[in-house]
Amino acid sequence: MSTSDRPLDDATRVVNAGRRKEWTGGIVSPPVWRASTILYDTVADLRERGSNTHHRLFYGRKGTPTQWALADALTELEPGAEGTFLYCSGVAALAAALLSVLTPGDELLLVDSAYDPTRGLAMGLLKRLGIKTRFYDPLIGAGIADLIGDDTRAIMMESPGSLTFEVQDVPAIVAAAKARGVTTLLDNTWATPLLFPAISKGVDLTILACTKYVVGHSDVMLGSVTAAPGHFAKLRDTSFQLGQVASPDDCWLGSRGLRTMAMRLKQHEASALKIAHWLTEQPQVAAVLHPALPGCPGHDIFTRDFKGSSGLFSFALRGGDEDGRAALIDGLDLFGIGYSWGGFESLALPVDPQRYRSVTQRDDAGPIIRLQIGLEDPGDLIADLAAGLKRFGAATA
Ligand SMILES: *Cc1c(COP(=O)(O)O)cnc(C)c1O
Repeated sequence: MSTSDRPLDDATRVVNAGRRKEWTGGIVSPPVWRASTILYDTVADLRERGSNTHHRLFYGRKGTPTQWALADALTELEPGAEGTFLYCSGVAALAAALLSVLTPGDELLLVDSAYDPTRGLAMGLLKRLGIKTRFYDPLIGAGIADLIGDDTRAIMMESPGSLTFEVQDVPAIVAAAKARGVTTLLDNTWATPLLFPAISKGVDLTILACTKYVVGHSDVMLGSVTAAPGHFAKLRDTSFQLGQVASPDDCWLGSRGLRTMAMRLKQHEASALKIAHWLTEQPQVAAVLHPALPGCPGHDIFTRDFKGSSGLFSFALRGGDEDGRAALIDGLDLFGIGYSWGGFESLALPVDPQRYRSVTQRDDAGPIIRLQIGLEDPGDLIADLAAGLKRFGAATA
């Protein structure tokens, strides 16, 4: 909150979050403090600092102000959160969050539209540890209550879903979970805390692939988990036991990216909406899967719960095949072909969501393409896509 009673806007919050004079003096951005060994003046000093290492230089693995500043900034952006732990990637963050909650014999309920590596973690490491996973329909809402059994310990959500962007009823799922003492986790990478403040919506652990919008420049791997009160100590202990530490250099770039995140998200949103609306009018396009568009499953929940949309969505072609889709994508000049997203540059990716579904069926009219809309001029991107749709039409005719 500001000194007046007016709540601060997102743009102001990301500029100021995590900047603490006691760590950095008058320096605006915390510099890169690299460390393994930290020296002590005396044995007594060593003993005393070891008794409480939180935000005190102790040993490199416990971080320096470079990492603390980014972690604190992410905590500040989630009203009601207790703390944040940082990881060397988004997947590492997902793994630590789940391992901080689950023990052998437990059951995890995992949304069927989850990011594929999250499924891989559940069906690989977690299964090997004796943790069962059951998948559920992203549109299940309050119906999740019927799936919660005696062994269910955690519910993992991702909203909107990977590749197909179904919006989940997070408040209804959280309410059902709380009634049964089940912990809730959310992969909030698409919305970030700016568009969906997860902790204030009742989520216990919210995960970001900071690689995407926090970093924003396609040059760093980084992840975070922000915890509600009562969940942070276990997350921190589990993460320290796993030896997790995000590098100071990467965290410094994460903090640098964060300062412009609100402004970047606004541009990603505006450009992506413009392109999504344009796509709905093209004869070669059967469906546009964008949470802010009425055709997207869960659109009403999106309107109710989210402050806005970001720059990633998909569309289904009308008919055609793999070759037609490749002709469209291969000839694009301004869209790169590559994984990840959230950077300043646009990307187009062929995706086949049905391969990554266990309990829900898709009935798409044609192949699907996922677009990450970057910070280029949207008119230029539309011209590039228009030529691509022509190539698709020619290949399909
Ligand atoms: C990219 C991504 C991740 C994983 O992040 P990495 O930093 O690539 O490990 C997790 N969840 C979602 C939704 C993602 O898009």
